[in-house]
Amino acid sequence: MAKKYLIVPRENKCIGCRLCSLSVSVEENRKLGIKNSKIVVKGTPGNYRVQIDYGANIKNPENVLKICPQDCFDIVSE
Ligand code: SF4
Repeated sequence: MAKKYLIVPRENKCIGCRLCSLSVSVEENRKLGIKNSKIVVKGTPGNYRVQIDYGANIKNPENVLKICPQDCFDIVSE
């Protein structure tokens, strides 16, 4: 089965809500909070950077895609 990866081609639309970080943390770390999340969002309004830990395996990238209110993410297959 092809491996799926998240990418952030529309990072410039990010509003810094961090729902992506929280979603991954809750789903994969079973923790309510963004500490140690596999997705880290940094920056200031109008200039956010979304960092994905590509060394980690995000099991359900579809859920991140769905939760982002700004449609920043896409999924690519290996
Ligand atoms: S969910 Fe989308 S808009 Fe919110 S911080 Fe993540 S990338 Fe940015």
